[in-house]
Amino acid sequence: MKNIYFFGECMVELRAKNDDMLHQSFAGDIYNSAVYLKRCFNEVTTSVVTAIGKDSLSAQMLARFESEQLDTQYVFAHDEKVPGMYYIETDEHGERSFTYWRSDAAAKKVVSFLTPSVLDSLSKGDMFFFSGISLAIIDNDSREQFWQAIKQLKDAGVKIVFDPNYRARLWQSVEQTKAQYDIAFSLSDVTLPGVEDLTTLYDIHSVEAVVEYLKPYNIQEIIVKNGPESVITKEGEELQSHTIIPVTNVVDTTSAGDAFNGVYLGARLAGRSVSDAVQMAAKAAGTVIQQPGAIAPKDVFCQAMANA
Ligand code: AMP
Repeated sequence: MKNIYFFGECMVELRAKNDDMLHQSFAGDIYNSAVYLKRCFNEVTTSVVTAIGKDSLSAQMLARFESEQLDTQYVFAHDEKVPGMYYIETDEHGERSFTYWRSDAAAKKVVSFLTPSVLDSLSKGDMFFFSGISLAIIDNDSREQFWQAIKQLKDAGVKIVFDPNYRARLWQSVEQTKAQYDIAFSLSDVTLPGVEDLTTLYDIHSVEAVVEYLKPYNIQEIIVKNGPESVITKEGEELQSHTIIPVTNVVDTTSAGDAFNGVYLGARLAGRSVSDAVQMAAKAAGTVIQQPGAIAPKDVFCQAMANA
C-alpha cells in the first residue's frame, strides 16, 4: 500500500451562514489536499502530520480527520496550545477575504514532535508533502530542525513534494521567503507551483518562466498551475502542455490548488501517467470551485469524479 504524509496546519474555519449565524468547519491547505486525495484514492494511506491541542475543538478536528479516513498517528497533541482559526468572507464575484487567529496555533510547534523515532517511522513512506504555508507557520527557530528532517526522509527514499503556496502576510520579508524556498526547491523531487505565487517573489509571469527558473534545481517532476489558463508539466526532460476546460460557474476558488495537488499526487501514487493525473486533478479543482468553502460535500465531489 502506498502512503503519503501531508505536513502543516489545519484550522477551524468560520463563515457566515446568515446575518446572525456562523458555520464552523475545518480547513487548511494540507488538510484539503489530503481529503481530496483520499476521496479519490482510498487505497493510498494518507496521513496528516500536524499539532493540535487538548481542547474540544481539537478533538472535533481529530474526529473530522478520522471521518475522512485520514491516518492520524502523526497528529500530535500539544499540552497548552489550541488550533488556529479563520473567518472567511466571499463577495458576489467569488473573491475571498480572510481574518486569521493563528499566530499562537499549536501547529507552529509541530516540528518539536518530530523525534528520532517519529522520523524513523516517517522514513518508511513514499511521499512527504509540505507547502509554503507549512514552512511559514512553523516557529522560526525550528526551521533548521525541519530541514534536517527533510534531508533524512529524502536520504531514506521518501519523495519530497513542495508547493510554494506563497502567503506574504505569513512571512517577515521576501528575502526570508526566498532563502527558505531556495532550500525547499533544492530538496524537492516534485514541485507544484502556481504562476501567481512566484510573480511577487521572482517577477515571474508565465508557466514557461517558472519552468526556466526551476531548471538549476534539477527537480524530477514539475507541475505549473495557472488558474483556468493551462497546466505545464516537466517530467525529467519531457515538457507537456495540458488544456484546462474553464468552469464558468465559479462560486468560491478556495482550495482549487489544494484539490489539484491532492488528486494529482494520489493519481501518481496509484501509478497514473502525468497527463492522466493532471486531467483528474483539474477535474477535481474545477468541481471544488463550484461549491462554497474549502471542502466540497463528499457526495457532490465523488459523483463528479466518478467518470474521471
Ligand atoms: P490556481 O491555484 O488558481 O492556479 O488553480 C489551481 C487549479 O484549479 C488549476 O490548475 C485548474 O486546474 C483549476 N482551476 C482554477 N480556476 C479554474 C477555472 N476557472 N476553471 C477551471 N479550472 C480552474
